[in-house]
Amino acid sequence: MAMNKIEGLRFGSDGNNFFWITDKHPRMIVHPHNKELIGTDLSDYKDAKGKRIFKDFVSVINKQGAGWVDYHWRRKNDPNKIVPKISYVMEFKPWGWIIGTGIYYEDVTNEMWNLTRDLIISVLGVLFIISGLTSYIIWRGVRSENQRGQAERALTKSEDKFSKAFRTNPVWMAISTMKDGRYLDVNDAFSRVTGFSRREALGLTSKELGLWHDFSRRNEVMSKLEDQGNLHDEEVVFRSKDGRMIDAIWSAELIEMGGEKCVVSAVRDITAQKHIEKELMESEERYRSLFECSKDAIVTTDARGNILMANQASKMLFGLTDAEMLSKNFGEFYVDSAMGRKFLADVNKKGFIRDFGVQLYKSDGLIMDCLMTVSSKYSPDGTITGYEGIIRDVTPFKELEEELRRLATTDSLTGLNTRRNFMELTKNEIRRSWRYKAPLSMIMLDIDHFKNINDTYGHSAGDLVLRELAVRCMEQLRSTDIMGRLGGEEFAVTLVESDSEVAAFVAERIRKAIAEEIFSLVNEEVWITISIGVATRYGTNDDIEKLLERADKALYLAKANGRNRVEVSDIKVATVQ
Ligand code: GH3
Ligand code: MG
Ligand code: MG
Repeated sequence: MAMNKIEGLRFGSDGNNFFWITDKHPRMIVHPHNKELIGTDLSDYKDAKGKRIFKDFVSVINKQGAGWVDYHWRRKNDPNKIVPKISYVMEFKPWGWIIGTGIYYEDVTNEMWNLTRDLIISVLGVLFIISGLTSYIIWRGVRSENQRGQAERALTKSEDKFSKAFRTNPVWMAISTMKDGRYLDVNDAFSRVTGFSRREALGLTSKELGLWHDFSRRNEVMSKLEDQGNLHDEEVVFRSKDGRMIDAIWSAELIEMGGEKCVVSAVRDITAQKHIEKELMESEERYRSLFECSKDAIVTTDARGNILMANQASKMLFGLTDAEMLSKNFGEFYVDSAMGRKFLADVNKKGFIRDFGVQLYKSDGLIMDCLMTVSSKYSPDGTITGYEGIIRDVTPFKELEEELRRLATTDSLTGLNTRRNFMELTKNEIRRSWRYKAPLSMIMLDIDHFKNINDTYGHSAGDLVLRELAVRCMEQLRSTDIMGRLGGEEFAVTLVESDSEVAAFVAERIRKAIAEEIFSLVNEEVWITISIGVATRYGTNDDIEKLLERADKALYLAKANGRNRVEVSDIKVATVQ
């Protein structure tokens, strides 16, 4: 059993190394490969160099019980080559066996190399890891050193920045103790606003500086600060070194400095802002009262014309209540809505229109002549947000103006054109006749011996005659003809599109109409006659003065030739005389 077991045993990297057994003679007991050797005497078995190896094994056993023997043997896969080999033998005493096994030196060297190589690789690996770790540790060390340096520099920089920001901040800043308000530091703005220099303020309390307008306010604000840890936009009033009141907005933060609670304050001076606010409020109030008390109607609307505000005068002007006014669109007031739209377009274009004459409806349907001054209101981005209009009812002035115009152009006794208006109208007609090369004539007439009428029947009877004369003359004229009273009892008529023949004919008709019909006055009946001079325009040089002059000369001739007659001026007459 032992022999079988040992015969099957193998070891080594290739699993080819085996064990053999001999006795001490020596004779072969077990050999897994050379079975023919079993039972044979091995005393003379020699290695490749003639060494009796089995004999050597026995002598080693006899000497030491176990040991090493060198010899030479054929190489495993190359039997022609002889290489050194070594065997280890050991005695198994109970049975007198020598158990041995051999290995090639080569295999040992290879094995050793393999082991060495693995070892080198492991050592290199470990070295590599160690160097990696070392570099990392060094790097970390350097980095943290750098970081520390950087942090130190950043700190210095930020301290620098903070102190700059503190000192040059346009907002007044101060650091003071919480307990008594003793100033530890103040900036330039503090000095500018309060009037206390940094040197004056440091070490003193706000109370000692008299900085609080109302010191109880400090206690109030401080207790709030203590509760919340900070303060935001508290409105406070300070007093400057020269006693001026300072309206301010105070923000503060509680910090700890050297174990003491301190207050970092930032204070904004809003005195100017307050002042502006107050002025704005006052000006708004002034505007309000102006708006309400104005005798002129003032109305504001949105961009679509819906009424937003209407003052007392406007309600009276339109005859509407406040609620009625505010429910209206201004467009509803226009008599001519197309004109209203055009007006609005003009306002949009120019932004402002003064004294635009327009007719508006009152609530009872009456039409008013108004003057409107309208300006548009804009949002900051330039779009129109609405309109403000001042409306003045000028109806009475319009009527007065009309009357004045009538008085200036119409003779009050006869209702005919005044001399001035007659001249004006005639000039236009003369220009027109030049342009159209149309004939134009003028007749001038004067009552014969009118003095006698006045003298006989009185001045007012004379007036009645003048009035009646005007009516009768007008009856003989076309609507396009122009009649005027030149003065006293002297009249003139401009006959458009009439040459001298036609004019002479018309003049004769007038003369007859006066001479042939009796004038019935209140108590009397009188006969009168008139003398007439006729002149006609020649060429483009003929102006109104020349025409009047020639007609006057013809009239003079009519008087000279016996009165109650018509004389026609011809150009030669005019130039001769
Ligand atoms: P002649 O035929 O030469 O024209 O004689 P005459 O008396 O008409 O003379 P003249 O034309 O010089 O006199 C004008 C008079 O007319 C003088 C003045 O008393 C009168 N007269 C002028 N204006 C008025 C008027 O408004 N009313 C009245 N009643 N008489 C007037
Ligand atoms: Mg006369
Ligand atoms: Mg006269």
